[in-house]
Amino acid sequence: MKKGQRQLSKNAKDFINDDYLQKLITSAKTDKVQIREIISKSLAKESLNIEETAALICADKELAEEIFDAARQLKENVYGNRIVLFAPLYIGNKCINECAYCAFKASNRDVSRRTLNTDEIGKQVEALENVGHKRLILVFGEHKSYDPEFIAETVRKVYSVKVGNGEIRRVNINATPLDIEGFKIVKDAGIGTYQVFMETYHHKTYAEMHPVNTSKGDYLYRLDGLNRAFEAGCDDVGIGALFGLYDWRFEVLGLVSHSLALQQTYGVGPHTISFPRLQPASGVEMNKKWLVDDYDFKKIVAILRLAVPYTGLILTAREKPELRREVMSFGVSQIDAGSRIEIGGYTEVGDAQVIEKEQFVLGDIRSLDDTMRQLLQDGYVPSFCTSCYRLGRTGEHFMEFAIPGFIKRFCTPNALTTLMEYLVDYASEPTREVGKILISRELEKISDSKMKGEVIKRLEKIENTNQRDMYF
Ligand code: SAM
Ligand code: SF4
Repeated sequence: MKKGQRQLSKNAKDFINDDYLQKLITSAKTDKVQIREIISKSLAKESLNIEETAALICADKELAEEIFDAARQLKENVYGNRIVLFAPLYIGNKCINECAYCAFKASNRDVSRRTLNTDEIGKQVEALENVGHKRLILVFGEHKSYDPEFIAETVRKVYSVKVGNGEIRRVNINATPLDIEGFKIVKDAGIGTYQVFMETYHHKTYAEMHPVNTSKGDYLYRLDGLNRAFEAGCDDVGIGALFGLYDWRFEVLGLVSHSLALQQTYGVGPHTISFPRLQPASGVEMNKKWLVDDYDFKKIVAILRLAVPYTGLILTAREKPELRREVMSFGVSQIDAGSRIEIGGYTEVGDAQVIEKEQFVLGDIRSLDDTMRQLLQDGYVPSFCTSCYRLGRTGEHFMEFAIPGFIKRFCTPNALTTLMEYLVDYASEPTREVGKILISRELEKISDSKMKGEVIKRLEKIENTNQRDMYF
């Protein structure tokens, strides 16, 4: 390797063929029989290839309704009604890049720059624990002060903060992709998922959004980022595209191609896929040409659900509450709630958003408790489970579906016990009331009497003692 040249993984390859993907989305057939065959394949929990995904993308309005129905069916039959909750914690917004869409870009003078110090991180984490969070994702700009040691130190600090019965049990990361050594350092700190969004898979748009003379301007280095993570031993990774930079249909094919490439190379696909939509941001002037409307957004979620049945889908608080509620029924597995993305936002700002302090504007700033209550009223089981990751059951999401009875034996009991912890320790009275009704209803559904007895025993312990974190 020449001095100054960046290290790629041994499997580095640019597997995105723009012309081919472009051709697929403009020429795929939308034959009814073929679309129904593809849907059946997905309902049988087989991943789709990019040609099949392209066919779903090109389906007309009538067939799109069948795609929505199938996504709902897959969710109901296969995934059940659990939904995992987390919160983002922005650590620092210094950045050397010039991403055209982001308020943190180096040249933006409208934004105030700040990095939380150790005490401030402690205060943010305490505030998050005090409302009931157990899972966080730490977010960083790209800057020399946010090197792998700093990220690892931050992760350790977050795990060390405990208030009352509160603790953070899983810390995920969203940061620039590291080199292999760097990934090893952050893995050793005990991270969960390492998330890197490609932003856009379309080469020309990528170059327009990320000037070539900037660190992020190197398309292949970013595309290869999670290969390096795998080679460093991090087999729990998340991918994503920022919808609104280019044609959503192309980006869906990019995400599915990426997922298949990781699966083929390392035997495990990404743990999660994120599909954020571009939001207004302070000091950012955006081209509106490719903004995705709500109808197409629903298609994105439903098609991804069908294309990658084993991959967790993350729906963020960028979206408004009503839309989140609707899209969740298509098989979203994780949402953030009670989120604030201003640096220091969990303790230092009031109810309104402070745009000069945040990366973009959020669509849903309801509290965790309000979100929990709505989920419970809609029949979801909100879960703070972190069990698989802590027991070394990596590839967690895959296992849920691949191992017969796994959901019944582990996921549902863990969802119920972590929900009970929330209800007892943090919920408002109305939320506690609906929560307990839902727990009773869910207990009725457990047919294995031994398992049911064990879950009831643990739920009673949580209600009557300070014993917590009794996971299966
Ligand atoms: N700096 C790291 C990087 O670029 O990979 C960490 C990510 S950044 C702090 C988190 C993500 O926010 C980005 O990957 C991008 O997809 C998203 N983002 C940036 N600007 C946005 C905007 N205006 N609206 C919605 N999402 C945005
Ligand atoms: Fe920096 Fe990330 Fe924002 Fe780009 S998206 S300007 S790298 S924080």
